[in-house]
Amino acid sequence: MVHKTANAQLDQLNTLGFTAQASWLVTAEKPEELPEVFDFALSQALPVFPLGGGSNVIFQGNLEAVVLQQKPHALDWSENRVSELLPNEVLLRVPAGYAWQQLVLDTTNKGYFGLENLALIPGQAGAAPIQNIGAYGVELADSLQAVEGYWLPEKGQPAKFDILAAKDCGLGYRDSRFKQDWKGRFVITALQLQLSKQAEPRLNYADLKARLAIKKQQLEAVNQPLPALIAEVVTELRRSKLPDPAKLANAGSFFKNPVISKQQAEELLKLYPDIPHYPATNGCKLAAAWLIDQCGFKGTKRGNVGVHDQQALVLVHTGGGTAKDLLALAEEITSAVKSRFNVQLEREPELVAV
Ligand code: NAP
Repeated sequence: MVHKTANAQLDQLNTLGFTAQASWLVTAEKPEELPEVFDFALSQALPVFPLGGGSNVIFQGNLEAVVLQQKPHALDWSENRVSELLPNEVLLRVPAGYAWQQLVLDTTNKGYFGLENLALIPGQAGAAPIQNIGAYGVELADSLQAVEGYWLPEKGQPAKFDILAAKDCGLGYRDSRFKQDWKGRFVITALQLQLSKQAEPRLNYADLKARLAIKKQQLEAVNQPLPALIAEVVTELRRSKLPDPAKLANAGSFFKNPVISKQQAEELLKLYPDIPHYPATNGCKLAAAWLIDQCGFKGTKRGNVGVHDQQALVLVHTGGGTAKDLLALAEEITSAVKSRFNVQLEREPELVAV
């Protein structure tokens, strides 16, 4: 059943904790109810804004929209999704409203590899393909097979349910077609993931590898599956650096790590030999946190917003602030990094104004 609330408060539905009201908050229990939601929005002459865990949005004010939330359902582990051709692979269907961290716990506790490096990322599964979530050298694209969802009607084409192959979704570094040319056109209702029963830990990140080595004995002691142990180590690492949004409002990494040309990287390395840099598809990736830290922003406070004192990539809101305050601080940081390093930072969370 579709549940509707008028003039709904969204303060608790965005991890930055900004005050905002939606014209309507509508909860759909199953994908088949989406046509009813869109008909309702049409009758109100309002757009539909799908909202997941609210961990990657910046609300700039009230939303003149029908905000859509999808209820979580059980995972589909059905046996016919375990391919006989690939005995070590598991195909899993995940409803959009399923909490990402719960998914990581469920799959890694069964001993399946694929999502363990992505532990403790906030939000719901349905939002994961939009920015192709990633951490510790792994991204969703590595496991994603297909995305199920609903196309909105346009240019004389009726609305329809569809299944999109992951390779057609333009998944890149914190990017996809869902935030580019498909923005506002497709509502994700479920993910199809391919996981593996075969041990394939990805431990390129130095601190993950080091901490896992220390905890490895635990594996024998409690008979914990290796992917679950890796997920636990990732969780500990993240907890040690990142603020818990329930205690200190934030939206995770506020900036993407910039990718610059190899030539520019070489020039910067002459000036700053310690600058952390990593090979990237189109050049060289820099650590945005390091650049921000070098400009002296770690722990900075500007009224009710600031830069986290453990991780310069995370901007925080201590209460009573607004998106305007946060964007002003982001602009101050972006300008400082640009003038010192000639590197342009790009925002990661979506600025919402409807
Ligand atoms: P870190 O280990 O201090 O490293 C700083 C940056 O250097 C990271 O952002 C990472 O880029 C890059 N890096 C480090 N080792 C690398 C390697 N072996 N190969 C390629 N790149 C490497 O990073 P951290 O801040 O503690 O974050 C750890 C992981 O969690 C990172 O992957 C980060 O992206 C992820 N994370 C994601 C979010 C989010 O909201 N999406 C929030 C916090 C952290 P990458 O970011 O490209 O991995």
